[in-house]
Amino acid sequence: MTDIEDLIAPLVTFRRDIHAHPELGFKEHRTAGRIAEALREAGIEVTEGIGGTGLVGVLRRGDNPRTVGLRADMDALPIEERTNLPWTSTKPGCFHGCGHDGHVAMLLGAAQHLAADPDFTGTVNFIFQPAEEGLGGARHMIADGLFERFPCDRVYALHNWPGIPAGTIATRPGAIMGAADKFAIRIMGKGGHAAIPQDTPDAVLAAASLVQQLNTIIARNIPASAAAVLSVTEIHGGHAHNVIPAEVTVGGTVRTFDPAVQDRIEERIEQVIKGISTSFEVECALDYDRYYPATINDADAAMDALSVAAQVAKAKLAPEPAPTSEDFSYMLQARPGAYIWLGQGRGDGSPPLHNPHYDFNDDVMATGIRLHVALAHHWLGA
Ligand SMILES: [Zn+2]
Ligand SMILES: [Zn+2]
Repeated sequence: MTDIEDLIAPLVTFRRDIHAHPELGFKEHRTAGRIAEALREAGIEVTEGIGGTGLVGVLRRGDNPRTVGLRADMDALPIEERTNLPWTSTKPGCFHGCGHDGHVAMLLGAAQHLAADPDFTGTVNFIFQPAEEGLGGARHMIADGLFERFPCDRVYALHNWPGIPAGTIATRPGAIMGAADKFAIRIMGKGGHAAIPQDTPDAVLAAASLVQQLNTIIARNIPASAAAVLSVTEIHGGHAHNVIPAEVTVGGTVRTFDPAVQDRIEERIEQVIKGISTSFEVECALDYDRYYPATINDADAAMDALSVAAQVAKAKLAPEPAPTSEDFSYMLQARPGAYIWLGQGRGDGSPPLHNPHYDFNDDVMATGIRLHVALAHHWLGA
């Protein structure tokens, strides 16, 4: 048995190397290669190229038929790092601003520990997933036969969470993160001279009205008991002071925790657009994309995770879901499991996820490894 404390120093070095060499979604070739090498060194069977750059390490022991999947995401963000740390990104405009470098190191540590641990039977699948940041790497791995090739009775994922103090682990049954949808609405007029507006439907004025009406949907059509967000974030159109543009595009995002609320918002957007078309004599086209569903924890798996978490840290029932989203949601649609927040806050107002000054807190690495290991032991019954 390898003591987890003995694994930490080399894993911190490994994590910082991954941090210094970040890779965007589906381009995690170096990262996946380094993980595969380290897993093989630990004596773990590795299959690469699942759903693009994804890989799975399999540790099988004895004849216990129970199986568990533990997942880490590997990709970085298209952000310029501003930390000035010695292990700062060597790639302009690319940076581990969501701590996935830490996720990789913790799951690798759990694999190294369990591989050296004679004290369990069953199968643990270590799932290293590409492209969490908006590109749906989880969906690609599932479409590539992830759960047929590597059966998992249960799946778990950890995400480092700066808003929760280091040493605390939190999760909850049911929704833990929102569904993320994006929309783009093309408003098409004719285009013409700004001095002769009577000859041209005004796509700019239609866009202005549309933005205001979209912002009434949550306030007027969604019950106060349901949480939802609609934000208009983009308006594109026009290039000259004396031209009424032929087309303006309005875009934004919708976040929800309940599919019925999600349906109602999309329906209302369609109705608002019809009204805009009529009143401003423009044509409108809606592109509505539900790119990540809500992340819904299985109730039993989440309560199990809380009892396991209490063995390795302070465990806390999260009072409410976060409005952010996650493609682990696809894995939870396919298999029962839970998404778990690993507190990593330093108590000094340190930067949030996706901030250019953010860095994974290496002090919580041992806790994350212990949690992965304890989740595997708990489910496998060993
Ligand atoms: Zn992120
Ligand atoms: Zn993340």
